[in-house]
Amino acid sequence: MEDCLFCKIARGEIPSNKLYEDDELLAFYDIAPQAPVHFLVIPKQHIESCGKIDGDNSAVVAKAFELIAKLTKENGLESFRVVSNCGEEAGQSVPHLHFHVLAGRSLAWPPG
Ligand code: AMP
Repeated sequence: MEDCLFCKIARGEIPSNKLYEDDELLAFYDIAPQAPVHFLVIPKQHIESCGKIDGDNSAVVAKAFELIAKLTKENGLESFRVVSNCGEEAGQSVPHLHFHVLAGRSLAWPPG
């Protein structure tokens, strides 16, 4: 999408601190980290949120979770949290599906 921040990052129009990139997925460090390790995994295609996952786009979501398993393993993260905020009330500020991966500190439950 033309005006979407994460579509712009996926297209390389806005720089990001990348961990991984392929044709379908991008992983990059969050600009405002909430834990010692905090990166985001996004599909390059525009999907607004978890609420818009369907049979036509779910394959890339499965690949995103495979990538999370690979990146956390490669980075020696045995304990981590994966979060996707869906909708403003849940804290979603960028309306492009993304999975936060947080690690490196104790993470409380329930979340705020
Ligand atoms: P959410 O609030 O769940 O939609 O998550 C959006 C995340 O994107 C926040 O954690 C922001 O800190 C992060 N963010 C916003 N702009 C950038 C950027 N240019 N590069 C990296 N992370 C960003």
